Amino acid sequence: MTEEVKTFEGGAHIPHFKIYTEAKPIEKLSSPSEVIIPLLQHSGVACEPLVKEGDKVKIGQKIGESEEFFSAPVHASVSGTVKAIEPRTVPTGGQETCIVIEADDGPQEFEMKQVRDPEKVTVEEYRECVREGGVAGMGGAGLPTHVQTSPRQPVDTLLLNGAECEPFLTCDHRLMVERAADLVKGAEFLMKSIGAKSTIFGIEVNKPDAIKAVQDQIEGKTGFEVAPLEVKYPQGFKSHLIKACTGRDVPRGARSAELGCIVRNVGTTVAAYEATVYDKPLIERIITVSGPNVPKPGNYIIKIGTPASHILKACGVEDLEGSKVVLGGPMTGLAQTDLEVPVVKSTTGVVVLPPNMVREEVDYMDCVRCGKCVEHCPMILYPNQISTFAEAEAYEEALEWDIMDCIECGICAYICPSYRPIVHMIQRAKPEVEKLQKR
Ligand code: SF4
Ligand code: SF4
Repeated sequence: MTEEVKTFEGGAHIPHFKIYTEAKPIEKLSSPSEVIIPLLQHSGVACEPLVKEGDKVKIGQKIGESEEFFSAPVHASVSGTVKAIEPRTVPTGGQETCIVIEADDGPQEFEMKQVRDPEKVTVEEYRECVREGGVAGMGGAGLPTHVQTSPRQPVDTLLLNGAECEPFLTCDHRLMVERAADLVKGAEFLMKSIGAKSTIFGIEVNKPDAIKAVQDQIEGKTGFEVAPLEVKYPQGFKSHLIKACTGRDVPRGARSAELGCIVRNVGTTVAAYEATVYDKPLIERIITVSGPNVPKPGNYIIKIGTPASHILKACGVEDLEGSKVVLGGPMTGLAQTDLEVPVVKSTTGVVVLPPNMVREEVDYMDCVRCGKCVEHCPMILYPNQISTFAEAEAYEEALEWDIMDCIECGICAYICPSYRPIVHMIQRAKPEVEKLQKR
């Protein structure tokens, strides 16, 4: 491993609040009595249900799929009976058709039986298993993973994203510490599939135990290295990770494959490994449950479709007065008002922000032109200008000032002394700007 700590220009050093869970080993959380499985949990096309109300299903059974390439099937995360197929609230705040399954007294754990020898897995088998297992990006973006297993252009580098730069979240950290062998094996599968010559694990230096665990596993292997990264937000965003790990500049709007890289989250890599070796579909994932007042914070294996209310109760959270519940991290996650919302494949955490950490949007003030948002924007944008146009519904001007290049990292809003909800303004304007672009 090179000792040089790598990073990118811009960004911000923000408190990371990982102390609550970074040393907590991964545990299983109790199984819920009902799961809510959205038919769209990835970017792309929604699945069609393969079951109907009243059907009995077994854990791991495929219950939804699509013939479209940009889609990933969904599977039952419990054994039970299909209670409903209906629209329910999902983490984005919108409504999606979901398959609701009431658990019964059948087996509620997937049987981990090896079905393929990891040493003999072929590229074709790997690609097929990743698709059949419904593996989709688990770091937030949610792209169906099989799409990335056969890039159309030559790729020389696989980047394993272990930065986990979002405050509070530690699920990837613990996965790297506890599952490093499977992670490296999963990286070897993918490396072969995309034809890369080298694999770089990008890990922030506040996770020395994860760096060591991965380093121990890659010792003696050709083409593998760990890149220790500065603790800086948003180090784990794709373009910033590519810049930090390879030195390659990422032009705005460029896809990583155009720069010879595929970036994969560490959790997704292990899920793809399990889908291949055990035929285990993506029916559960590790998430971090955290917050200063959470009685039992931790890194928990949680079934996909588990309602947030079940998780909060199991972690001892009772009083939510004035608090904000966020699915994901506080910078890029989404605040939830309906706590029956389910955990999906891309949910990284459930974070409970106490009243003193919640900023009321209604209290924001005019821009005082301090320039801090411009100084720290990792995309080298002018968040003050863009948000002013967005707020005024001046979408043409917002487009001219590159609103669509905003990665919604949240730094500008975090740093703004006028408490301006810059990201929300940008998020609200983007669909309108998109319409303009299509004209
Ligand atoms: S404008 Fe977008 S990319 Fe820039 S700091 Fe704000 S949220 Fe991040
Ligand atoms: S940080 Fe806030 S007050 Fe300062 S320039 Fe940006 S929008 Fe204006």
